[in-house]
Formats: sequence, C-alpha cells, structure tokens
Amino acid sequence: MKDVKKHDDILNTASKILKIIKQPIAIEHYTLYSSASIGISRYPTDDISAENLLKYADTAMYKAKEEGGNNYQFYTREMTDIAYEHVMMERDLREGIKQGHFEVFYQPQIHVKTGEILGLEALVRWNHPTVGLLSPDIFIPLSEKTGLIVELDLWVMKTAMEMVSSWYKEGLNPGTLALNVSMKQLEYPDLQKEILKNSKMFEFKSEWLELEITETEVMRNPDKVIQILDDLHRLGLAIAIDDFGTGYSSLSHLKRLPIDKLKIDKSFISDVPRDEVASAIVKTMIVLAQSLKINVIAEGVETQEQKEFLEKEGCEQIQGYYYSKPVSAKELKSMLLRQKG
Ligand code: C2E
Ligand code: CA
Ligand code: CA
Repeated sequence: MKDVKKHDDILNTASKILKIIKQPIAIEHYTLYSSASIGISRYPTDDISAENLLKYADTAMYKAKEEGGNNYQFYTREMTDIAYEHVMMERDLREGIKQGHFEVFYQPQIHVKTGEILGLEALVRWNHPTVGLLSPDIFIPLSEKTGLIVELDLWVMKTAMEMVSSWYKEGLNPGTLALNVSMKQLEYPDLQKEILKNSKMFEFKSEWLELEITETEVMRNPDKVIQILDDLHRLGLAIAIDDFGTGYSSLSHLKRLPIDKLKIDKSFISDVPRDEVASAIVKTMIVLAQSLKINVIAEGVETQEQKEFLEKEGCEQIQGYYYSKPVSAKELKSMLLRQKG
C-alpha cells in the first residue's frame, strides 16, 4: 500500500481482503470456500530494504497461518527471534543425536500396596552442551514438527531396551519397560522391524515391552491407529493409553482398541482427593478400566493422600514424585538393587 496515513487504513484493507476472499464461489454444482492468511510489514518501522520487508511479511504470514488462517498479523521483532530459535534448535537437535547428547531417565511404576517396582517409564533428557539439561516438553514438539522424533525415539528405544535387558541379566527385576511413542513413530514403516531387531540383539522379551500412546493421538485417527496397534500387539508387547481423560475418547473406539492399560492423566490426580469432581472422574476411570479388564495406573502421584485415595478406590499401580522422580540409569539400578535386598 502506498501513502498510508493511518494505521487503521492497513487494518481496513486487510479486513476487506479477508472478507472478499471468504465469499463462497459457486462452480457447477459445488460451492467452494477459500480463506487468506495475511502478513504485514511496514516501511520504515520494520525495515527500509524491500528484501527484508518482503521477508518479514512472509514471517508474519506464517504466524497468521499458525493462528488457523483467515486472519492478518503484523510483523514483530519477536517473530524473527522465534524463527531463529527454531532453526538453531533444529540444527542442535540433529547435532545432539549424532553426538550422543541425549540421556534416558527412568521413572519407576509402583505397586500401591507392596511398594514393589512393576515397571519403568523411559523419559528422554537432552544434555545440551551450552544450555544444560533440557526437559522433553521443550524439544519434543519441535522434534515432531521436523520429523527428527523418529530418529530420537529409535535411539531411546534401543538404549532403554539394552539397559533393561542388562538389568535382567544381572538378576534384577525392573518389570515392564514403557516407551513413549509419537504418531510419527507409529507410522514409521520399519517400527516392527526395529523392535524385533533390538529384541534379538539384546535378548529382550516382548512381554517386557509396553508402548504408550496418548489418547489425543489415538482419537485423532482411530481407525488407522487401531490397525497399527493391532499389528504391534501381535508381537506380544503391551499397549497403554497415556494422558487418559484429556483426549475425549469415545467408548466405542476404546472397546475396539487392543489396549492393556489406561494411564490416568496427572491433571486429575493433582486434584484428588480434595476436589469432588476430579475424585469422581478418577473413580469412574478406575471402574471403566476394571470393566474393560485392563490395568490402570495413576501418574503424577505426589502425596500420601493421593496414594491412599487411589489405593482405596482399587487403583493398583502408581507413578509419581511420591515414590520417585525420573532418575538416571545409575540411580535406578541402585533402587533395583535395594529392592532385591
Ligand atoms: P508423559 O509421557 O506424560 O510423561 C510424564 C511426565 O510427568 C514426565 O515429564 C515426568 O517427569 C512427569 N512426572 C512424573 N511424575 C510426576 C509427578 O509426580 N508430578 C509432576 N508434576 N510431574 C510428574 P517429562 O519427563 O518432562 O516428559 C514430558 C513429556 O515428554 C512426556 O509426558 C512425554 O509425552 C514426552 N516424552 C518424554 N520422553 C519421550 C520420548 O522418549 N519419546 C517421546 N516421543 N516423547 C517423550
Ligand atoms: Ca508417558
Ligand atoms: Ca502422561
């Protein structure tokens, strides 16, 4: 736009464009809908070079798309910072995988009555050379976006299977190994082959393995997921639904899924037993698992009160800071040794 007098002129023009593009178009028997995403940069506020102004408008347009489209966004300096951070982090991620900067931590899953370790959840950590230890919430989303998650999860799987096998060989009893798998990982065509390869290489029994997939991912494409999980289930490993209660499962899908375990999301556990609604929901989930004849575990158990509530309601397995945080392989081994007595 030339000769912009007021900021409002820009807003009005952008709104007009969005409105016009949104008009349905009738072609033969079809009505077609379209929408636009608009990025805006300003001369001379944002920059004075045409090249940079175009680049910034482009960055702002991606922000508009990210916000769901059919809107406009003004470029801000922050957008460049975020884009830059992503590029840097992607580069670091690739490098980190190559250089072995990742480490698997393990969090025990406990029998609520006996305190015995029934299994371990593998949780990945990133030992970033300059930033320090990073938690997965920071890098898993970007790894998923860039597809690097497949490589990372294959590494976690191999490392954890080798470790757990070695513990069994030393006469320890770590129980089941639970691995988090993303949708991208499930769709990876060689996933089965990789599992079998590791099992053979480390003499890892398939009944020691459990895959955790979030309820949200399952429900995003249930038919496809059911088929993949059915195939995996045939290998003899177990399937757990993670973050249960946050993903709007339909009961009819649940019934068709080859699941062995529900993991009640920690957002519910943190509110029991004080909050009546949360307590009622947790009780219902426990009963649901029992009637489906599958295991149920509560995650994020932090207090004695929560533990007692779960025990009373018949939830036999718990995981959380109450018993232990995720710990390094070395620390976990000491726990197993202590358990053995
Ligand atoms: P998640 O699968 O729901 O894992 C449980 C998270 O809750 C872990 O966070 C764990 O450290 C934390 N946690 C455990 N007990 C407690 C507790 O008592 N209180 C509270 N407040 N938190 C507790 P973490 O390790 O930061 O992992 C975050 C998420 O990153 C995981 O959520 C999982 O979705 C993902 N993730 C972790 N490792 C992997 C991996 O190897 N592959 C993939 N695809 N995802 C992973
Ligand atoms: Ca999990
Ligand atoms: Ca979870």
